[in-house]
Amino acid sequence: MAFVSLLAQEQSLELYEYLGAKEKRKIQTDITISLNPKEKMLQDAKKAFANGHRILKIKLGKDIAHAIDVTQALSQALPQAKLLIDANQAWSLKDALLYVETMQNRPLALIEQPVKAKELAALKKITQISHIPILADEAAFSLADVKHIITSRSADMINIKLMKCGGVTKAVEILEYARVKNVKCMLGSMLEGPISIGVAEHLAMAYSDVIEYVDLDSPLLYKKGFRL
Ligand SMILES: [Mg+2]
Repeated sequence: MAFVSLLAQEQSLELYEYLGAKEKRKIQTDITISLNPKEKMLQDAKKAFANGHRILKIKLGKDIAHAIDVTQALSQALPQAKLLIDANQAWSLKDALLYVETMQNRPLALIEQPVKAKELAALKKITQISHIPILADEAAFSLADVKHIITSRSADMINIKLMKCGGVTKAVEILEYARVKNVKCMLGSMLEGPISIGVAEHLAMAYSDVIEYVDLDSPLLYKKGFRL
């Protein structure tokens, strides 16, 4: 990140310009609603929505009855919110298919990594059946993983994280590939500090045609705010 920032500085460019963006733009991140009992998740989601967050990343676990219950309650309570469902590899193929079937009439934005990273055949099956786009996260680290997932149609979208793919140049390779293949991505993060989140923000500006969702909410957890 330091090196890429220096390359931009050498040309007297802002990082987003160096990465190909014409202008600085506002980036809208989602906000994570952590896995908890239903009432607590509802309460957290309503609070986030009231604070202006329209894109909610809902963390669900392996209790599929709870997952279905929470999703139905949230989509009923907050019809204007965009719900991104993250199962974090917790579901079996059977549970994932049950979830998809139950959610047929719910306008969910996506389902992230429903099954274990290694279970690509199951992921593909879910992608084939689901009307909701399926996002690969733990199944997609490298460009080779991404190419395999896209060419085998195992998922509709890819979650790219700087800490997962190995830095800015690796992320750019994946984003360039996704652009050519017309695959939409999420730009996510781990729990990260302001420098790497800032770099990711510049990437999101430069690839706004590819990056449909930005999941860079770790600064919301900082004790002190930061500015780029
Ligand atoms: Mg994830």
